[in-house]
Amino acid sequence: AQFQNADIDEGIRQTLMILSNNARDKGVKLTSDLTLTRPYACFPAKLNQVVLNLVNNAIDATPRGGEVHVHTRVNGAWVEISVRDNGEGISDANISKIFDPFFTTKPVGKGTGLGLSISYRIVMEHQGTIAVTRDETAGVTFLIRIPTEPKDP
Ligand code: ADP
Ligand code: MG
Repeated sequence: AQFQNADIDEGIRQTLMILSNNARDKGVKLTSDLTLTRPYACFPAKLNQVVLNLVNNAIDATPRGGEVHVHTRVNGAWVEISVRDNGEGISDANISKIFDPFFTTKPVGKGTGLGLSISYRIVMEHQGTIAVTRDETAGVTFLIRIPTEPKDP
């Protein structure tokens, strides 16, 4: 498979549109600050799947009245996509397990526990990194970094 040059921000806009009803029903505000000024090499459908999963997880974790924020920017040789929420956060016991296949804290039938393991694999296919940090106040931020100039796969 070859990378395609794609408008990553536009893909994120479409993903946020898809999730807007879900967010509204749960009383969670979806906001974004998308600052990429040109297309970047990626697997667009796969990258959209990652963002969809991260934003869905963030909506699930965030109580009514909370906010999920998606930010894109270029930082040196990296395109960065971050998804921040002010939800329930992730415990010390769980933080090392969240990327494991089938790890979920959601009720049976609500979560497969596959979203983050698939997302991790997709980010690796982009020669990138995915990391989670816990905010001092509440919630977590997932940060994806993919190279602006990936090597031919
Ligand atoms: P699923 O969504 O099916 O549970 P994921 O692989 O997407 O599977 O996520 C695994 C687990 O990681 C979730 O069940 C949850 O415990 C935790 N998690 C992921 N994102 C967040 C988040 N934004 N806030 C709190 N917990 C999270
Ligand atoms: Mg998920």
